[in-house]
Amino acid sequence: MTDIFDELESEVQSYARAFPVTFNRAKGSWLYDQEGKAYLDFLAGAGTLNYGHNNDNIKQALLDYIQADGITHGLDMHTDAKENFLNTFNDLILKPRKLQYKMQFTGPTGTNAVEAALKVVRNVTGRSNIVAFTNGFHGVSLGAMAATGNSHHRDAAGISLPGVTHIPFDGYGGQDIDSIALLDALVSDNSSGMDKPAAVIVETIQGEGGLNVARKEWLQNLEKVCRKHEILLIVDDIQAGCGRSGRFFSFEEAGIKPDIVTLSKSLSGYGLPFAVTLIKPELDTWKPGEHNGTFRGNNHAFVTAAKALEHYWADDKFQTEVQLKVRQLATRLQRIAKAYDPSLITAKGRGFMQGLEFNSGDLAGRVCREAFSRGLIIETSGSESQVVKCLCPLTITQEELEKGLTILEQSVAAVLLVELSIAS
Ligand SMILES: *Cc1c(COP(=O)(O)O)cnc(C)c1O
Repeated sequence: MTDIFDELESEVQSYARAFPVTFNRAKGSWLYDQEGKAYLDFLAGAGTLNYGHNNDNIKQALLDYIQADGITHGLDMHTDAKENFLNTFNDLILKPRKLQYKMQFTGPTGTNAVEAALKVVRNVTGRSNIVAFTNGFHGVSLGAMAATGNSHHRDAAGISLPGVTHIPFDGYGGQDIDSIALLDALVSDNSSGMDKPAAVIVETIQGEGGLNVARKEWLQNLEKVCRKHEILLIVDDIQAGCGRSGRFFSFEEAGIKPDIVTLSKSLSGYGLPFAVTLIKPELDTWKPGEHNGTFRGNNHAFVTAAKALEHYWADDKFQTEVQLKVRQLATRLQRIAKAYDPSLITAKGRGFMQGLEFNSGDLAGRVCREAFSRGLIIETSGSESQVVKCLCPLTITQEELEKGLTILEQSVAAVLLVELSIAS
């Protein structure tokens, strides 16, 4: 039997290939297929479901709004849903962190928020070059993709991807390379060949790039060098933001204040398409409609996003719980890795963006397939797809986390013990 997906859906499918079942229900940290089989979800929409699937605290607000014929689509017109979201975001997220940003609702994808960020910094500074980092991922539209490292994505562009200089991320090429000192030197030297950039775009924890973590001091130095040369700093917090690092913004620990921040993935709190570009007020030089889009500011997402903030971010309780589970995750991953030779497997990452790096993409892929057969949905990332990434919902219970990690541990053992016995 050829199914309708094979027959009709494009070959561009990716996650569907790794998890070849048809899902029909989801709740919390669980996905269910048509056969009724339950899977623990350690992929969580690639970090879009920080509060789990169909979160009851959020769902009711959306149902009430729809029931009352609240505005569903309003272009970028003012709606009470947007008003409430702006107030909530300002009161619960920006003000307590002493951050001041204007909020640009872009088209609903992360990549569109990045496009807006890149446009605004280029227009404000009058410079076109952007500095991005090795293994960075910023989306697959042409501007954002130019800042993305991975050739798998870049090669699909079909045209050149100009305007970006890639330099080593923290730790790339070994801890001896100080890429911030390098950036400082390149920008200071009028013979370096690098056009002075409008901005630097960075992920504090590289999600798609393989859970590479920028150290606090590295980020602080990056901010300093940017300020010294009047280069703007963009933090792409699309994956690491909205609590995934253990705080609302992933850059809070480093104490830096980016000029621009992009958010999307878990911002709606409910898996709805939604993206925003936060812009320091003095940089908000847009003329009306210069960057537009039919779906700017999804009203249903305004409702769910505001509710998620009210429920989880009104005090420190949720953050504290998340940080507790982050430690549980770290301890367990270290333990899994320590059972094998470090040349084969190591634990890495920060916050709820941690995982296991294998010495090949083949091994990592086999571990994910083994885990799937045991009822755990988990995916790889990294340049060679060599990093198995735990992106569990932040609302996962400690019991569910233990259960998923036990499946992961058993899957690693099943794959590596076979591998090691073949080798010996
Ligand atoms: C997912 C992601 C994007 C792109 O978001 P889309 O909604 O897929 O366009 C950009 N930057 C980062 C860091 C991401 O993780």
